[in-house]
Amino acid sequence: MGMKLSEKTGHTQISNKAPINVCPFCGSKAGYYTKQQARGTIEYIYNYDGSEAENDGMYDLLTVKGGIYAYCLHCSKRLFKMQESEAQPWLTWT
Ligand SMILES: [Zn+2]
Repeated sequence: MGMKLSEKTGHTQISNKAPINVCPFCGSKAGYYTKQQARGTIEYIYNYDGSEAENDGMYDLLTVKGGIYAYCLHCSKRLFKMQESEAQPWLTWT
């Protein structure tokens, strides 16, 4: 009786889980947010008949900064630093 196990190998499970489950300041489990600041210009392109043209590059002039720290949704206290590099191990393959 041959039982074949199909084994999924390869990828390490990537976790975006926060390092905490609950806000240490107010005890809220509501969640957290990051602050991102966008500045710049959005060029929205129209054809002369009023229809929308190709707008693939509409965000090219926009700069987005921030998103480094996580803040509590409830009390807005800074909770932890987002792990940008560690969260993407597939980018460090050699
Ligand atoms: Zn809080």
